Amino acid sequence: MSTHSKQNHVAANARDTSPASTATAGYLSELFCSVQGEGLFVGERQIFVRTAGCAATCSWCDTVYSKVQTPRFVVHGEHGAPARWRPNPVALGDVLDDVVACAQANAPVVTVSITGGEPLEQPEFVAALARGLRERGFRVYLETAGIHPRALPHVIDHVDVIAMDIKLPSATGTEHWDAHRDFFSVLRESDFQPTRVSARSLFVKVIVDLKATITEMERAADLVASFSPRVPFVIQPESETMLSKNATRENRRALLDLIDAGARAASLRLDVVRVIPQTHKVLDVR
Ligand code: SF4
Repeated sequence: MSTHSKQNHVAANARDTSPASTATAGYLSELFCSVQGEGLFVGERQIFVRTAGCAATCSWCDTVYSKVQTPRFVVHGEHGAPARWRPNPVALGDVLDDVVACAQANAPVVTVSITGGEPLEQPEFVAALARGLRERGFRVYLETAGIHPRALPHVIDHVDVIAMDIKLPSATGTEHWDAHRDFFSVLRESDFQPTRVSARSLFVKVIVDLKATITEMERAADLVASFSPRVPFVIQPESETMLSKNATRENRRALLDLIDAGARAASLRLDVVRVIPQTHKVLDVR
């Protein structure tokens, strides 16, 4: 039996025995297996648990359906199986069972991405979920807007990778610099210290569209550098401008020029700077 098979076998037999976990329920939007399309782990097959609810206001949000908490969520069918709808709020044990079933149907899968919406708007539920996933042998990857520093301590000990966004004011209409700075402060006091930061534990992603400015991108890179210049910094071109049928060549060129300037500026401040587009949109998968 391969390591991955063993892991999914262990996951199948493990039961959630934590009183705190079994008492916890939360709101989801969807659950499925796909290929990670963003950031440093691009290309890895993962299971995605998308939480529901997000108060952020990103103008290019491509999961608007996950911003509100609805009475039910969907577990997408695998290999032609029909989708199944489940009621919200959903009990932690039910989510864990769904993840294990999804992992078995798609084995081997070792990483579960907890994404949103904004997972840190439900910190106790997400902490219990992450803990339960780890008990079942999964690696836990948290995708967050990085604007809820007071929620982060709940989950930080239960995740293996943090993919933290920096939200540019041009995209949200709001300044999140202080929240991002405080988020880094929590990381600094935790295991995610600069001396222990690696590509496997923390990276920052900045989505850049035509409204962004080089000044914002420099400020984002400065903020990351003030935590540690070793934190990988991923610049993600906004997909509508790059991939939409309505996108013009001129706009694509203008965005690529802006991103190139931002990447050069970031590279003066940080050790690892990458430009990575959303590849799941190219593959036309979730
Ligand atoms: S943080 Fe994510 S879910 Fe929330 S508005 Fe921004 S892109 Fe959408």
